[in-house]
Amino acid sequence: AIFKIPRAPPDKILGLTERFNQDCHPRKCNLTVGIYKDNWGQVTTFPSVARAQNILDENVELNTDLSYLPITGCPEFQANVLSFLFRESCPQGSLYLDQNRVSFVQTLSGTGALAVTSKLLSLFVSKTVWVPDPSWANHTNVFQNNGFKDIKYYTYFKNGQLDVSQWLDDLKSSYSDNLYNPQCIVLHACCHNPTGVDPRREQWIEILDTIHDLKLIPIIDMAYQGLESGNIYEDAYLLRMSLDSSRYQWPNGLFLCQSFAKNMGLYGERVGSLSVVTPPDPELKLNVDSQLKKVVRGLYSSPPGYGSRVANLVLSTPQLKKQWFADVEHMAARLRHVKSEMYDRLGWQSLRDSSLQHGMFYYTGLTPSQVDLLRESFSIYLTQDGRLSLSGVNDSNVDYICEALQKVTTQ
Ligand code: PMP
Repeated sequence: AIFKIPRAPPDKILGLTERFNQDCHPRKCNLTVGIYKDNWGQVTTFPSVARAQNILDENVELNTDLSYLPITGCPEFQANVLSFLFRESCPQGSLYLDQNRVSFVQTLSGTGALAVTSKLLSLFVSKTVWVPDPSWANHTNVFQNNGFKDIKYYTYFKNGQLDVSQWLDDLKSSYSDNLYNPQCIVLHACCHNPTGVDPRREQWIEILDTIHDLKLIPIIDMAYQGLESGNIYEDAYLLRMSLDSSRYQWPNGLFLCQSFAKNMGLYGERVGSLSVVTPPDPELKLNVDSQLKKVVRGLYSSPPGYGSRVANLVLSTPQLKKQWFADVEHMAARLRHVKSEMYDRLGWQSLRDSSLQHGMFYYTGLTPSQVDLLRESFSIYLTQDGRLSLSGVNDSNVDYICEALQKVTTQ
């Protein structure tokens, strides 16, 4: 009965923004959500995206079709995103495209890709997934909501650093015959959320070798492509390494959940994709295609159109694409600059070396009670795990934020 519905806890991240909005402190700072803001605290449209929007506005025939997109999305978007991901970002992927082994759906951004992935896998392949500890809190929620029964957590970050040997021990210790009873694993492609710490290339080889030996199914979550190095192609290194066919075959497939939310600033338009790299079996590929369609049809029928038209223009118009690369480089450079400004004021080593932590967030190491103090005494909002969104820091608040951080950590 309806009265049995219990109260759900507020979303760990979005709930804080609600509290922030009610806060009257004149110097309040929202450093919770991963939205890029410029040095004036504004969320601005990327120049490349703004130009694409202008083109759409001026070409009525490009943008007046409000009818449904196909279940799997806009066909031109599919073609452009596939070649962006599997040829340009990852030349090793061409082989799989040429062999027609990649099933594709345009999704409601990265979260939608994870939702479709988990629904498909839980229906037919596996109900067990490994997620890093810590991770983006919504991973657990999405997998649970879509049929996963067993969410396991592998050690990722311990005592203030990445712990690869414990990570791999965790995976090995619960090895069962994964080929017949397969388990999945979520891997953050770059800019790990929340820690910002990613394995180095040689560590990834060891990790991928182990995952491959254990016959785990990789689910690559690529929400921040470009925000690590500033170079969009460069940041797809995990995809390139995983699709090295001389080293790895993925007998239960490989899932790539990709988002244009952060690297095109299209957050609310919900633009992303799911690509499933299938084993070399044409029938199987058609089966996967058909089941993906059925899953999508049952969840939301078809994706929205506008954002994919914008992304499609950016990807397919050389001048816009060049501008997009510059936009991403600019964003990454500002995030690095913020860190160095904070380092100048605080002297914390973890802020100094940009090779230690990547992307939009700085993982402060603050305890939950220090995070509370920061919020209650200074109206500076971080997520409870001590993650600080660097893009909310700017010339006008960096002194205030650093003084507050200094105070709460030395008390
Ligand atoms: N994965 C991770 C690790 C994320 O941090 C995010 C965004 N916060 C996403 C996926 C998905 O975001 P979106 O649905 O907005 O693309």
